[in-house]
Amino acid sequence: MSKKSQSKKQERAQSLSYFGKDLVRRCAATCELCAAGSVPLSIFEVEPVPKEPQLKHCLMICDLCQQNLIHPKKMQVNHWRCLTTTMWSEVVAAKIVAIVVLQYLAGDHAWAQECLEQAYLDADEQAWVDEWSL
Ligand SMILES: [Zn+2]
Repeated sequence: MSKKSQSKKQERAQSLSYFGKDLVRRCAATCELCAAGSVPLSIFEVEPVPKEPQLKHCLMICDLCQQNLIHPKKMQVNHWRCLTTTMWSEVVAAKIVAIVVLQYLAGDHAWAQECLEQAYLDADEQAWVDEWSL
């Protein structure tokens, strides 16, 4: 990695860290996607990542969720059974991730398709989902 992109990355991490307190309070020490507790959590920015970091695009999630989202081709399908609950989250970003992952899985997995049929998104949430696919 070049020095320039390295420092850009650090800058981003720095601005995200301002949200740390709010996120820690919101997530109550559990992964905001799979509800795992007693595991390391880190900030994940939900696509499409805004130019300026925004709290509503951030989630505190565990490494396993993070890896699955970064490498969807290696997705551990059974891990995402948790989304049947997450898709009702009051945290919009968590709901968005749930729907996008379910859409990704729905082609091959009937349970994911069934979840999507029950999902409810308002217009803003639908617009967000439309902007991102795995
Ligand atoms: Zn998780």
